[in-house]
Amino acid sequence: MKAIIVGGGIGGLTTALMLRARGIACEIFEQADTIRELGVGINTLPHAMRELAGLGLLPKLDEVAIRTDQLYYLNRHGQEVWREARGIDAGHDVPQFSIHRGRLQGVIHRAVEERLGPAIIHTGCRLGAFTQDEGGVTAYFFDRSGGHVHTVRGDILIGADGIHSRVRETLFPNEGPPCWNGLMLWRGARDWPVFLTGKSMIVAGGLNAKVVVYPIAEGSSPASRLTNWAVLVKIGEGNAPPPRKEDWSRPGRREELMPHVARFSVPYIDVKSLISATPELYEYPTCDRDPLPYWSSGRVTLLGDAAHPMYPVGSNGASQAILDARCLADLLARSEHPRQALVEYEKKRLPMTAEIVRSNRRGGPEGVIDAVEQLAPDGFDNVENVLSYSQREAIVRGYATKAGFAAVPGLAAVRA
Ligand SMILES: Cc1cc2nc3c(=O)[nH]c(=O)nc-3n(C[C@H](O)[C@H](O)[C@H](O)COP(=O)(O)OP(=O)(O)OC[C@H]3O[C@@H](n4cnc5c(N)ncnc54)[C@H](O)[C@@H]3O)c2cc1C
Repeated sequence: MKAIIVGGGIGGLTTALMLRARGIACEIFEQADTIRELGVGINTLPHAMRELAGLGLLPKLDEVAIRTDQLYYLNRHGQEVWREARGIDAGHDVPQFSIHRGRLQGVIHRAVEERLGPAIIHTGCRLGAFTQDEGGVTAYFFDRSGGHVHTVRGDILIGADGIHSRVRETLFPNEGPPCWNGLMLWRGARDWPVFLTGKSMIVAGGLNAKVVVYPIAEGSSPASRLTNWAVLVKIGEGNAPPPRKEDWSRPGRREELMPHVARFSVPYIDVKSLISATPELYEYPTCDRDPLPYWSSGRVTLLGDAAHPMYPVGSNGASQAILDARCLADLLARSEHPRQALVEYEKKRLPMTAEIVRSNRRGGPEGVIDAVEQLAPDGFDNVENVLSYSQREAIVRGYATKAGFAAVPGLAAVRA
């Protein structure tokens, strides 16, 4: 069997490794001219890291990432709403990694080149169209100027081509653009003095504005880390298109961001100075899409952001793409017919990821900060008097259970 994978992001590359491990051939077609290590920080959760560990990538990830050990949720005044251990410290057998997206992609990309050979990755190939028949799928690829470069035949086609997926658009031509929720996300990273344990993540703010800060790699000295920050602010009602099209690599405008930064009071780290000192920053209007009724049509299916783009809260975008890859590869290896495998894959993965998309719309686990802010907008003396431990736990743990990475039983969160 041969799979055609459209898209060389984290989802597509991981799928290639998973297929290879099960003896299934594949080729990847990526529209960019090279696989470049783009993006800023992302978090990858233990359930997904278990899959990458199974592929033997843990030592390489440890060279470029930080094993996140604790997570703080604070209100806009810097008061602690919730704190919990993460990854190994929360009892998991594998870590949660905070990592530069490009470096994560780089680790997986190098493994694909080593194990499958560089020739299976075709860059500068944008999927234009595909057709399918009883015997297989035919895909047509084009270069940047629209010139036809490849026609490829395979048994199945996997659309791992991100939020603007051409495969999805072909299956659902009337869907239209992604939905914007009115929030703008600004992001950046810079070498900065260690804060807290040097492996801690902070999410602070309130209903309409949040800041997230965490280290993603060693720094230039033992006393510093490459520190990622993200500021998420409501700037629109979300019933109109975003001010500028969603593009993960679009430079942000510092003059638009800085007035919002003044709203936060964060202990442990001077967020305003960190952001001011960051030379390059990016903006991204937080967009998702409504869950689909199906992903698989005959010999074609969707994976990762193409299947279930979600708001970037709860650290799940890359993690769910990795889980999709494992599930799809397992089913292809054991099903009698690839079409049957694609239907089974959709049955297993679509409902769960749809639930995460919906949950992220309600704020994801960070919703615990919003719930406290609604009741105590000016802060509190004791958070227990605002929302009890079990009420806060229900919000945070409810999300973790849905996303498949609930804490190990018996290990309670640290009481704030
Ligand atoms: C450049 C970039 C930077 C990002 N930065 C961040 C970040 O800083 N923080 C964060 O949380 N998330 C970021 N993301 C999103 C994050 O990587 C994904 O949410 C997650 O990893 C799921 O990955 P995916 O492989 O499904 O999709 P993606 O990572 O979006 O990968 C899709 C790939 O498909 C390719 N592609 C698209 N259309 C076609 C086509 N027609 N033919 C061939 N190839 C095609 C794209 O070039 C891309 O390489 C970024 C994504 C990109 C592409």
